Amino acid sequence: MNADPIHTDDSKPQVLVIDDSPDVHRLLAARLKREELELVDASTGDEGLSMAKARPPALVLLDLDMPGTDGFQVLRQLKDDAATHPVPVIVLSGLASMQDKITAFELGAVDYITKPFEFSELRVRIRSALRVHRLLQLLATRAQLDGLTGLWNRAHFDQRLAEEVSKAARHNRPLSVAIADCDHFKSVNDTFGHPAGDAVLQGVAKVLRRESRTSDVVCRYGGEEFVVLMPETAPQDAAAVCDRIRLAVEGIAWPRHPEHRVTISFGVAGTETGKSASPEAFIESADRNLYMSKRTGRNKVTSSTIDHPRPAAAA
Ligand code: GH3
Ligand code: MG
Ligand code: MG
Repeated sequence: MNADPIHTDDSKPQVLVIDDSPDVHRLLAARLKREELELVDASTGDEGLSMAKARPPALVLLDLDMPGTDGFQVLRQLKDDAATHPVPVIVLSGLASMQDKITAFELGAVDYITKPFEFSELRVRIRSALRVHRLLQLLATRAQLDGLTGLWNRAHFDQRLAEEVSKAARHNRPLSVAIADCDHFKSVNDTFGHPAGDAVLQGVAKVLRRESRTSDVVCRYGGEEFVVLMPETAPQDAAAVCDRIRLAVEGIAWPRHPEHRVTISFGVAGTETGKSASPEAFIESADRNLYMSKRTGRNKVTSSTIDHPRPAAAA
């Protein structure tokens, strides 16, 4: 089953402490042990960078004055990497000059605390940085969600499609895209009203989510159209999934109009071999197949592979 786009994570936020002083690590562990935090330690800038890249933490506490790669360099590299860029960094430093503070903020630090510091102040500053970071993440996620169905929206789909197409081509892996369109949907609105139409879209979204895998990306493409991006899935397997979804939707007795069944048509396109093709090529091919499903009776799935060139049309 597919996960909700907004999932709750109950684990404690991880705080990466990058400092060359073992005393600082020991003190922080002792004084922050009652906080709902998981502290992890790095004693050099390079160690901290590789830990942050391997698993981006919720927050970094960063010393500036360290032998080798210093805190300024660490900060610059964290902010230069897309994976670690959003991680908030609080500088904990013995360097108290105004210029050091300005440089740290300009490089992207969210806060600057000079040593020696009050632990009570550090605690509230950590809480505040984590709270702001959580809200920013929530906003970024919300901007990619569809308001009616709670599925991912078109913007998210476009971004993920580009990523998955290049990943599939790089590793020669299968990838499929399915477009679904509700059949004669206008008649649902016209006969039973717009709210009834909305309820159908929400119900179809639920089935799509229930019947697809966690790794699939289920989106509302717009209006009464949906798309499912299926990594690691060859087109014939994607078509089988779509047929299961098609049957499930057809079987629904809608509370507002149990006598009026709703059906959906699918167009599926994919590659078994990770053939290098543009994201647009996947969409165009899936769209052509959807059109074929519509033209040949609706409530059906039409699929094809983009691995072989289509036979030339007869003259
Ligand atoms: P076809 O089988 O050829 O796809 O026919 P159709 O009636 O589904 O196609 P058409 O594109 O003519 O109509 C789509 C309808 O979907 C028209 C539009 O009002 C409706 N629609 C689009 N978005 C929404 C929405 O958010 N809520 C509701 N209730 N209706 C919507
Ligand atoms: Mg349509
Ligand atoms: Mg339609």
